[in-house]
Amino acid sequence: MHDSLDFDTCLGVMQALDDYLSRELTPEEARQVDEHLELCELCMSHFQFERALVMHIRKKAQEVRAPATLRARVLSMLDQI
Ligand SMILES: [Zn+2]
Repeated sequence: MHDSLDFDTCLGVMQALDDYLSRELTPEEARQVDEHLELCELCMSHFQFERALVMHIRKKAQEVRAPATLRARVLSMLDQI
């Protein structure tokens, strides 16, 4: 499905990182990315940066849902004034 991607090159691996992080690669493709990351410091640091970014965004997305209870609490406090 990723015929245009060449996992032997840094460019190909970096282009596949988004799919790798969202687990949209086939097991074979993911294995090739894994192998490249083990050998290539440049892609590994790029991968770690992207992964941290994705995790940060996911965490933020979860936090965005929390204020619903906060808002309810603030509204009930306002009612008491
Ligand atoms: Zn590389």
